[in-house]
Amino acid sequence: MTSSAFPPPISEPDPSTFTCSSSLVGPCSGCQRSTHRYGSGGLPLCHWCMTTARESWGTGVRFNNTRTQAN
Ligand SMILES: [Zn+2]
Repeated sequence: MTSSAFPPPISEPDPSTFTCSSSLVGPCSGCQRSTHRYGSGGLPLCHWCMTTARESWGTGVRFNNTRTQAN
């Protein structure tokens, strides 16, 4: 597992918020980070959660499962 794209602290907004109107910003469904959530191009998940979700979708895991299971 690589850590090159390790997400910043939750207090840091997603970079997508820098290029959209603040009225389109909302909390990420996964980690509550501020992200471009509404309007054109908006997503319910921040960049980092989306990356994780895409990987999870392949295994049928839903995103209300917010934490990976420990063995
Ligand atoms: Zn997130």
